[in-house]
Amino acid sequence: MFESDARHPLVEHAVTPTVSGFEDEEPPSLPRRHPLWKDVSADQWDDWRWQTHNAIRSVRQLRNLLPFSPAELEVLGRLEGEYKLAIPPYYFSLIDPEDSNDPIRLQSVPSPLEAENPSGYELDDPLEEDKDSPVPGLTHRYPDRALLITTPNCTMYCRYCTRKRATLTRGGWEGVSADDERMIQYVREHREIRDVIVSGGDPLTLPIGKLRFYLENLKAINHVDVIRIGTRVPVTLPQRLYDPELIDLLGSAEKVYIQTHFNHPREVTPEAVRVCRSLLRAGMPINNHSVLLKGVNDDLGTMRSLLRNLLKAKVRPYYLFHCDPVTGAGHFRTSVWKGLEIMEGLRGHMSGIGIPTYVVDSPHGGGKIPMMPNYLVSMSDDAVVLRNYEGLLIRYQAEDKPAVNGQPTNTRGVSGLLQGDKSALIPQDNERMARRKPRVVRNGCGGEGEGDSEGETNTDGGALRPIIPLPMLNNNGNGSAASNG
Ligand code: SF4
Repeated sequence: MFESDARHPLVEHAVTPTVSGFEDEEPPSLPRRHPLWKDVSADQWDDWRWQTHNAIRSVRQLRNLLPFSPAELEVLGRLEGEYKLAIPPYYFSLIDPEDSNDPIRLQSVPSPLEAENPSGYELDDPLEEDKDSPVPGLTHRYPDRALLITTPNCTMYCRYCTRKRATLTRGGWEGVSADDERMIQYVREHREIRDVIVSGGDPLTLPIGKLRFYLENLKAINHVDVIRIGTRVPVTLPQRLYDPELIDLLGSAEKVYIQTHFNHPREVTPEAVRVCRSLLRAGMPINNHSVLLKGVNDDLGTMRSLLRNLLKAKVRPYYLFHCDPVTGAGHFRTSVWKGLEIMEGLRGHMSGIGIPTYVVDSPHGGGKIPMMPNYLVSMSDDAVVLRNYEGLLIRYQAEDKPAVNGQPTNTRGVSGLLQGDKSALIPQDNERMARRKPRVVRNGCGGEGEGDSEGETNTDGGALRPIIPLPMLNNNGNGSAASNG
């Protein structure tokens, strides 16, 4: 534990189930420092130049700060020749040094597992961005969007980075900046491009003059409506955004959205929240994408905490990416089923504005493909059977037209819904239905939530009628409460 814990106690980050079945929320991290930097003045600590200058950049430094076995050090020593390493003191201080599986450590500290490729399915350019590059550094994949790689540098090198070939790999992407003019010219000449993602590496590591070059040129192109800055600086080095000149520059480009990358609730620190507020005040919406990472955020409790912390900071969860098959990052990959399991626990259980779209960024440059649990259970000519987050199965007639089914057939379950015998099948232990009392309501538009339009409604033009829990078919075909077999 850190010496500074007496002043700023560490937050226990285990997620403990409660009797209600909901996880305790993990509060945001509190400010803290590793004892190595306990005598550093507040002014220095808050200075991004000091943070950058004092970043951990070698295995030799790491071995004095974290426990490693001799075998691990031997592999890490070999990997160091191949891959860069950088962890600013601020981000390093979020690591619990006593936990070898700490989620902040897993993201930032090299692992011997990076030398392995057990699946044989690991690629240097998993999204084939280079093949969709008409100009070096620019990827034009979707019709109306272009991605600019403006630098190979980052404040912290994420061990699972999709562009590892350009960022972590030593000498991976030299000379990108020489193509600045060609990239801008390409955007100028392609009037279909309306959205430009300024990425890297991290564009907020660029000298301010170079960043100004990109922003002013893109702002001046009339057909560009949106400039997205892809950056992890709010997460890994928020001190960079304490600089009002940088905030002013970003804000003055007018078209800027910030696309940031929080992966774990403990990354949502007071420092990170402070800079998100600065960006929002300067008029820049902030969207977050996370990567689903084994051991970091691949459980429902952690993901819910992260999303709730982001909402509190007014950062909108945008994408949850399945981890790409990047060379040396196989140990971060989970199954798609794990991602779907997490999404199942989000929809309906928290506000829709807090739910990201889970996507697989597909090989061969196929782009982002959304994945979600299946809510469409079955369909007929005149109706579909939908499932809600509670397991309620509902017959939904999408158009106002006569039912095509002639004689109702004595069927059960989902087939019974399609035949129109019933309009819903309700799980036996449905708490929401149990809360309902029979009541009299007027038909019409219902609001969100516990509105009057829920349940079995009539269609007779606004007459009063009781709303009652819907019956479901039992094995005898009679309406009664039963399990949802
Ligand atoms: S900040 Fe982004 S570009 Fe840089 S290493 Fe992390 S994921 Fe890759």
